[in-house]
Formats: sequence, C-alpha cells, structure tokens
Amino acid sequence: MKNTGIVKKIDELGRLVIPKEIRSALGIDKENVEFFMDGDKLIVTKWNAHCVFCGGTDDMVEYKEKLICAGCRKDIAGN
Ligand SMILES: [Zn+2]
Repeated sequence: MKNTGIVKKIDELGRLVIPKEIRSALGIDKENVEFFMDGDKLIVTKWNAHCVFCGGTDDMVEYKEKLICAGCRKDIAGN
C-alpha cells in the first residue's frame, strides 16, 4: 500500500474530495467507485459490474437490481 501523503477532511455531509492526482493515477475520474471495509480501513476502488452468481463480467444485464452475466442467464434458463 502506497502512502500518498495527502490528508483530507470529510465534510459535515460526509463528502470527501478524492484528489485529482489520485483519480488520474487510478483512472477513476467521473466513474462509479465501490467502497470496501477491511478492519478499520476504507478501500475505494473503481466499480466493476460483476455477476451476483459467478463474479463474471460478460454481457451483464440488470434484473431486480442485481447484475447477471450471459452465462448464468443461460444456465438459469436451462439452455
Ligand atoms: Zn454469472
């Protein structure tokens, strides 16, 4: 884990600005990000749509607010 040396304060509404140099380095400008908790650490990563069943990312479709890949849709349909 690389320490950037940057310290930011979360404002009263819970907002936090991710510095441009970090967004640029990670390629997360104007994209969805996903939050993970690891003990007392917060990890923010670029959000990748993945299938709720297999974790795959092929030809994703949303169904009842869950993402399902083409392979699992095919399995579920019994084809
Ligand atoms: Zn799947």
